[in-house]
Amino acid sequence: MSEYVIPAPPITSIPVASGGAFPVRRVYCVGRNYAAHAIEMGHDPDREPPFFFQKNPDNLNTTGRFPYPPRTSDVHHEAELAVALKSGGTNIPVEHALDHVYGYALSLDMTRRDLQGEMKMAGRPWEIGKAFEHSAPIGPIHTVTDVGHLEEGAITLRVNGALRQEGNLNQLIWKTPEMISYLSEYFELAAGDVIMTGTPSGVGPVSQGDVMDVELAALGKLSVTVT
Ligand code: MN
Repeated sequence: MSEYVIPAPPITSIPVASGGAFPVRRVYCVGRNYAAHAIEMGHDPDREPPFFFQKNPDNLNTTGRFPYPPRTSDVHHEAELAVALKSGGTNIPVEHALDHVYGYALSLDMTRRDLQGEMKMAGRPWEIGKAFEHSAPIGPIHTVTDVGHLEEGAITLRVNGALRQEGNLNQLIWKTPEMISYLSEYFELAAGDVIMTGTPSGVGPVSQGDVMDVELAALGKLSVTVT
């Protein structure tokens, strides 16, 4: 292979709770995957096919700090379970989908809601509202070996100690195996892929200085300060 003509971009990685680092290939995000959140965003909560958008791997942010982004005055928190894949493929059957999961993490799908809203109105892509710098705070990955597969459990988000979002993984409209299977019909999934599974109701704005705490019993707490 020829030598790179510029320095190679670094590979983004997520710390693993039991040691080591998980290298990231792609980040998929599921939209409207809790009925109560679909309703609060003005949509029918019936089970429509899932839809996805992507963030960039280097939007992942393990610093515990979220710098308030430019060109917006309405940045929202979305607390989400993230699924990390150790393998992949295409047309993965639902019953084999969990075999590809390496582990789980707590994450935040930070959203420039004003810009996302403008893009929705115009029928344009969402990247400007979703895939910006530092927009995906994420905690350490807990391996399946350590925590098993997560199918239920309360997921909450507090801002400065006040409860803002509360849901349960058993309320996910599309379950983790279904999401993996569905995605694999459209994309070739692979080791290093991360899927953010959608947010429960209660999304809302944050300001500089706010502390966001995402909690799920099996995964502990992800604490992120808006700077
Ligand atoms: Mn989201």
